[in-house]
Amino acid sequence: MEIEHPVQHKKEKAMDTGNWRNHYPVVDESKCIACGNCVKYCPEACIFLDDSEKAEASKSGKVAKIDLEFCKGCGVCAQVCPVNAISMRTEEGGNNNETKSKKDKEKTN
Ligand code: SF4
Ligand code: SF4
Repeated sequence: MEIEHPVQHKKEKAMDTGNWRNHYPVVDESKCIACGNCVKYCPEACIFLDDSEKAEASKSGKVAKIDLEFCKGCGVCAQVCPVNAISMRTEEGGNNNETKSKKDKEKTN
């Protein structure tokens, strides 16, 4: 099931909204049923359903993936997930432009 978000995600966005957040979402891929709610409601259009090989282990063959470069940590995705597959974690050290979540750090290592 492909869900088209009304806001097209632009990599060339003017603002790196990932720098705004105090919290970041983590998806439990074993719980995700790929319903697409989080994709539809994310105000930053930074969630997509991944159907790559890595997602095959999930129940539906797809899992929600979040682009933390643009996630502003609003928590809407966690609120609308019907199976509580998304949990919000606190950013280390609070919010400032130098703060990176563990996932961001992993991405850059
Ligand atoms: S926390 Fe907000 S901005 Fe980040 S992925 Fe969830 S809905 Fe989108
Ligand atoms: S709302 Fe929950 S179950 Fe639905 S795609 Fe997002 S993480 Fe998966």
